[in-house]
Amino acid sequence: MRTLRDAFWAIVALSLASQTAPTAVLAQSMPDGSQPAACVGLNRDNPVPLDSRIGRPDPAIIEIFSGAGASAISAHELTPQELTIVKRALARLPRLHRDVLQHHLRRLSFLDLQPGSGSALTSRAGLDETRSQFDITLRASLLDESLTAFLNTKEARLFEDDGSGFSVEFDAGQSDALAYILLHEATHIVDQVLGLSEKATGSFRADIWKDLRTLSEPHASSLAARTPFRRAPAIPRRYSPAFYESLRKSPFVSFYASAAAPEDLAELFAWQQLASRFNQSLTLTVRDREGFALYRYEPLKAPEVSLRFSEVQALLDRYEQHCGSVTKP
Ligand SMILES: [Zn+2]
Repeated sequence: MRTLRDAFWAIVALSLASQTAPTAVLAQSMPDGSQPAACVGLNRDNPVPLDSRIGRPDPAIIEIFSGAGASAISAHELTPQELTIVKRALARLPRLHRDVLQHHLRRLSFLDLQPGSGSALTSRAGLDETRSQFDITLRASLLDESLTAFLNTKEARLFEDDGSGFSVEFDAGQSDALAYILLHEATHIVDQVLGLSEKATGSFRADIWKDLRTLSEPHASSLAARTPFRRAPAIPRRYSPAFYESLRKSPFVSFYASAAAPEDLAELFAWQQLASRFNQSLTLTVRDREGFALYRYEPLKAPEVSLRFSEVQALLDRYEQHCGSVTKP
């Protein structure tokens, strides 16, 4: 078993390696008591509301954000309006996610901070890898951030100014960032509990990931896998159309999805849910110095991504059909 200190540094290392943005963390070992993809929420007669888990984070969590470059960090107390927003976002999670969180979410915390490289963290309770309880910690300013602004800030870190005058811009309409972030982070917990990305032969990993971090060919040598999210140097902006064209032909819904198998899964579920249930649109446009659109694509409609979205829907449908009407006798 790893010590807390080892776990801490593993988390910090992963957070920094990804130079990001939406997440950080995943302990890689499976929890002892991992459950099959059978019904995980059998106490629905008296479910404890998920918002009852909202509370202050452990000091160790604040240290992790600090280690990832954030400053002026303090616990954020939600206003009544913010609490309403958070409750609504929790209620919109798919049933599988809500059921898993019922059993495995210990705490949901919000932090005021000057951002470093991370905005959200999913970690095992107490950073103890033997526990199957998890904490989600989010940057509080996500509560009034648009999804478009969030994505553009994150994506800008991939590129360097090369004098070309090119710009890279997402348009996610009027959506807020919180729904996406909660879907992404909650999927990390679902993944850890069900072992989805851990299974080498599972449909979400086969033919794409050799292990949790190593890509199979042809994905390993595609341009889509040569970004700072995989520790490659920043991309000169004039090459951005070629990189996005490579991404369009890949199974990844975003460059961040190529960082590791668990991130691939979290991105896939989050975007599938936004697209299928909330009619989310997403467009990426590369423009030249004069603002002329040089390249445009819709990540949520890329062919291989669409196929994988169907797998996500099938899994969620199976869960809903099998467990949706389960009640206590
Ligand atoms: Zn993540």
